[in-house]
Amino acid sequence: MAVPLIQQIRVGAYILGKKLKGEARYPLVLMLEPLFRCNLACPGCGKIDYEDDILNRRLSVDECLQAVDECGAPVVSIPGGEPLLHREIDQIVAGIVARKKFVYLCTNGLLLEKKLDLFKPSPYLTFSVHLDGLEAEHDRAVDQPGTFKRAIAAIRLAKSKGFRVNVNCTLFDHVTAEQAADFFDFAINDIDVEGITISPGFAYERAPDQEHFLGRTRTKNLFREIFRIGKKRGSRWRFSQSTLFMDFLAGNQSYRCTPWGNPTRNVFGWQKPCYLLGEGYARSFRELMDTTDWDSYGTGNYEKCADCMVHCGYEPTAVTDTVSHPLKALAVFLRGFRTEGPLAPEIPLDKQRPAEFVFESLVERLKREAKAGAETQSDAA
Ligand code: SF4
Repeated sequence: MAVPLIQQIRVGAYILGKKLKGEARYPLVLMLEPLFRCNLACPGCGKIDYEDDILNRRLSVDECLQAVDECGAPVVSIPGGEPLLHREIDQIVAGIVARKKFVYLCTNGLLLEKKLDLFKPSPYLTFSVHLDGLEAEHDRAVDQPGTFKRAIAAIRLAKSKGFRVNVNCTLFDHVTAEQAADFFDFAINDIDVEGITISPGFAYERAPDQEHFLGRTRTKNLFREIFRIGKKRGSRWRFSQSTLFMDFLAGNQSYRCTPWGNPTRNVFGWQKPCYLLGEGYARSFRELMDTTDWDSYGTGNYEKCADCMVHCGYEPTAVTDTVSHPLKALAVFLRGFRTEGPLAPEIPLDKQRPAEFVFESLVERLKREAKAGAETQSDAA
């Protein structure tokens, strides 16, 4: 099963509990980025184009676990950077598992074989290995030959030792529907992963390659084509995302994002408003929730959000919709995704506010503050 039953029950109960308490905004998945440093430099990545003093920063084990406690989300995803480069990643994961939270450790797989002995198999731990397609497409997407083979060897080893493994795939416009379908067949039938997490890429302001991100209409048409191929082949793909999120990708649901659903804690603080956009930082989770002007973000509200259909923004919307309308979700699950007919209405963009390019000045300010903090500490010592 792509998502363990215990996780589905726990997350469903958590959402119902929040609804009963009348909480309008609550987190589902904490995006915990303990470092930005990576051992790859993918052209579509918006995370690693920082100077060394930022790439060398790490969240400590205590800071990570404090973020988990502060946020309270039932699921913790650990992206990066490459989390396996963090020297204490085993302690971070063990601390989260001990709290009975579901951890998705996102990795490019290059260090997984070497570091596997640091971890213990658990229903609470899933390795989410980033693969952007079969060998040729993946190695091209990460700009390094040989990475696919190493990641696949690591996945096979992890599975043989009893670990749960997912693949995490980002689609860009040079991948055809046929190639994506071949990759899904391979992931399920050959390496037999628990599930596939899939999302269109996001046009990060700092990504070196700005040309190959999919727009919303192209994303929907691509997913319809992928699902048509899957139906024709009789493929039985297991996605580790909700049925309604996949239906949204196929253009059958009109959703607005839930940016507070996957809050991000990284070396700068709590990122405003979401994992994809860094337009400010709060010092605590509560401050993030209380001081972010949520209405000024999202497709239709902000130019930078115009093309976003990424899972960290829309999966929380789909999951909440599933809990509120289980029969609708069941009907889609039983019938399959509609791949013909009109697309669900799109959010109009005519009232969106123009993009603000605040990132460089924000990073400069954070660097100055960090330097001033370090000097104060050394004066006091
Ligand atoms: S649409 Fe929502 S999830 Fe996507 S970048 Fe904008 S605020 Fe973030």
